[in-house]
Amino acid sequence: MTGEVHVIGGGLAGSEATWQLAQAGVPAALHEMRPLRQTEAHKTGSFAELVCSNSFRSDEWETNAVGLLHEEMRRAGSLIMAAADAHKLPAGGALAVDRDGFAAAVTEKLEAHPLIEIVRGEIDGLPPAEWDSVIVATGPLTSPSLAAAIQALTGEAELAFFDAIAPIVYRDSIDTGVCWFQSRYDKAGPGGGGADYINCPLDKAQYDAFLAALLAAEKAAFKEFEAATPYFEGCLPIEVMAERGSDTLRYGPMKPVGLSNPYKAGTRPYAVVQLRQDNSLGTLWNMVGFQTKLKHGEQVRVFRMIPGLEQAEFARLGGLHRNTFLNSPKLLDATLCLKADPRLRFAGQITGVEGYVESAAIGLITGRFAAAECLGWKLKPPPPTTALGALLNHITGGHLSADSEGTRSFQPMNVNFGLFPPIATPPHPGGKGPRSSKGFDRKRALSRRALADLDVWLAPSASVAAE
Ligand SMILES: Cc1cc2nc3c(=O)[nH]c(=O)nc-3n(C[C@H](O)[C@H](O)[C@H](O)COP(=O)(O)OP(=O)(O)OC[C@H]3O[C@@H](n4cnc5c(N)ncnc54)[C@H](O)[C@@H]3O)c2cc1C
Repeated sequence: MTGEVHVIGGGLAGSEATWQLAQAGVPAALHEMRPLRQTEAHKTGSFAELVCSNSFRSDEWETNAVGLLHEEMRRAGSLIMAAADAHKLPAGGALAVDRDGFAAAVTEKLEAHPLIEIVRGEIDGLPPAEWDSVIVATGPLTSPSLAAAIQALTGEAELAFFDAIAPIVYRDSIDTGVCWFQSRYDKAGPGGGGADYINCPLDKAQYDAFLAALLAAEKAAFKEFEAATPYFEGCLPIEVMAERGSDTLRYGPMKPVGLSNPYKAGTRPYAVVQLRQDNSLGTLWNMVGFQTKLKHGEQVRVFRMIPGLEQAEFARLGGLHRNTFLNSPKLLDATLCLKADPRLRFAGQITGVEGYVESAAIGLITGRFAAAECLGWKLKPPPPTTALGALLNHITGGHLSADSEGTRSFQPMNVNFGLFPPIATPPHPGGKGPRSSKGFDRKRALSRRALADLDVWLAPSASVAAE
């Protein structure tokens, strides 16, 4: 092996990490098991194969967080973005790509780079002890033997094989004229203040209507290989619980006990939906116990029936998928090293981000951290005001953990403006038409701040020689 850094997995994240290493002048060995061994979703031997949709979502950087992430990655010399731009297809404001042309372009660039060695084959356990810098980017379908070795190192509960995602709502779209802040029995708990949940009350008629809509709503199907993977009783979809009886939810996640509605003193709600703060900024709130397989449009329709959530804007909708991912806020340090074995860094979906672009973005950051370390430089994490930094912060510390409730509270996340530190809303000039509201002004201000801060981070002077 000639590589100074070994990257395991040539998907979206591993390809980007390898490119960033090589472009920084650091030799890298990229280990990919395909085509010798396929995952349940991949079909080719190409690097950065897109396993499902061919879309990188919105390409609009001023008012869309994933569009902003595209722009930041372009500025950081991303291989994934360069190949996507070179193979884009007409798709309105979205960036859609010709998947074969895209993957072929990534593969050619990696194979042609003089500092990159390609090694085909599965890494079926922890990397050999003599590899002193490794990036693990093996994705949501990490091969079972490697996953088992990582699990043995991290502890059984810290590597999940299914995500159980409950919707996340922007705090400022919740009607606190109907809902109130209170923890059950006013319990403060560790780090709490006795009023840590937002409670949405339902009377009997509202509960019955909600239940009927939930049961009738359209569900998304499991993929064949997912159906064969058992998932825990502790993370049953809400609609599956509802099917078990009309009171199951009232005795489960919607139980109304220990709560008193200040707007209706003396009457106990028939059922309650609770939301718990999800990030340290307090901008995102998680619907407790509401993991679901309902189709996305149906989730918005049905969950807006809940009193107080009529105008809810969702930063993330629910889902349940086969997904291998770490409990990163606990296990990884600020530069994505495994605390238990710092020669291992992680990148991509396995760190708890969701989506092609986000996975590649974490590959980009990890590659830069590993390159800086090899070159004897100390690289600060990207500022949390940037899309790259906001995403990194979600993985390494921004998420507030509440792991005591059965399902692990850290779940994969797409990039969204709720992850960014707030900004004073600029004066709204008025005007009509699409994208002229205050909300869009705020997003534009966040995006401009992000790009200005990113440029400072990308400047060579941002790295300092390690002591
Ligand atoms: C079925 C499915 C559908 C999805 N659809 C979408 C979608 O439509 N849009 C979207 O944005 N995201 C989608 N995702 C999420 C998507 O997987 C990720 O966004 C993205 O591919 C993850 O990038 P990654 O680099 O972390 O992992 P991957 O792109 O999966 O790359 C991991 C690589 O590691 C290799 N590997 C695994 N184990 C080993 C090993 N032990 N040794 C060597 N190599 C190994 C694999 O062969 C693979 O090439 C989907 C995920 C799945 C599972």
